[in-house]
Amino acid sequence: MKVSDRVDQVPPSGIRRFFELAEEMDDIISLGVGEPDFSAPWSARDAAIASLERGQTSYTANRGKKELREAIARDQNERYGLDYDPEEEIIVTAGASEAIDLAFRALVDPGDTVAVAQPSYVSYVPGVIFAGGDPLPVATRAEDEFKLTYEVLEESGAADAEVLVYCYPNNPTGATMTGDELQEVAEFCREHDLIVLSDEIYSELTYEHEHTSIATLPGMRERTIVFNGFSKAYAMTGLRLGYAMGPPEAIAGMNRVHQYTMLSAPTTAQHAALDALENCDEDVREMTTQYDRRRKFVLSRFEEMGLSCFDAAGAFYAFPECPWDDADEFAEELLHEEKVAVVPGNAFGEGGDGHLRVSYATGLGELKEAMSRIEAFLD
Ligand code: PMP
Repeated sequence: MKVSDRVDQVPPSGIRRFFELAEEMDDIISLGVGEPDFSAPWSARDAAIASLERGQTSYTANRGKKELREAIARDQNERYGLDYDPEEEIIVTAGASEAIDLAFRALVDPGDTVAVAQPSYVSYVPGVIFAGGDPLPVATRAEDEFKLTYEVLEESGAADAEVLVYCYPNNPTGATMTGDELQEVAEFCREHDLIVLSDEIYSELTYEHEHTSIATLPGMRERTIVFNGFSKAYAMTGLRLGYAMGPPEAIAGMNRVHQYTMLSAPTTAQHAALDALENCDEDVREMTTQYDRRRKFVLSRFEEMGLSCFDAAGAFYAFPECPWDDADEFAEELLHEEKVAVVPGNAFGEGGDGHLRVSYATGLGELKEAMSRIEAFLD
């Protein structure tokens, strides 16, 4: 059967190819994964179990349980001083993935240009294409430590775009941006009247400075949709729960798509999420401490091996330069010879060439072994 041209236009994910190769082999250490190696905190799991025992297995309101939206609003207020109305400015979704898709479908008209800061999470470009928009890559630079700058926005032609989408702390680079650094992005978006889609799913996984939400900067809240979720900080990837916050008309538009496609986000997961926000700060702190320990270990081992890598300060990724010209070939040989899976940077779009994404969402013991294998491979 023929698939639509839109779907046909989107190539299969470059990450998947590596996972498939790795799955066929034994004794692989995968530094290719983009999800926590921890399980969700017990308290959140218990809340989900208890909700099932009470028989709470129906749909919720389209936008998500009211108590959960209120808890999200409180959380954003405590963290960033943001004031989102839980009735009109928050929608709970099946993962941040759904929120991203809803935003493209609700805000992008055919022919609209969406500037996509790259290297980036692999969903943005396909999401734009599925919505009928035209993606415009904005390649961040290694010499800027993969931060988004006024200059790269200007040079890429983003001034003519309708929407800008980006993610900090970043997947795949681990880059973060401070409030001061975000000011120039905000300035560009105000000057050129861009809608901003800010993927903040890694907002709690920062190791050197606190996360700043761009929605807190002057003139930004009214032009920004923020995505967040429970997959990363709370290690809840399989529960599929995320949310978006933004101006009422945008959230209403997203809800219109959501109510006909999803109805409501998973109910059991909403119970877990509510508990996560209320009771799991300590678990998040503990996981973050562990990620930071691993991060420092990986960065110091790369330095010992002479692999150049900037001091990635967020998420759970390092993005070293590949010592070979061809990063695809390097990753493939490393997989075959030493059984360590990493992902070539070009799988994440422009600007990622010549780099490798190395995830440290893996126990320290495995990381130590993986680093020894990489060292042996380089030797
Ligand atoms: N955004 C980014 C940057 C991600 O890395 C991921 C997951 N890999 C997502 C969104 C999707 O997260 P969720 O599980 O909430 O759909």
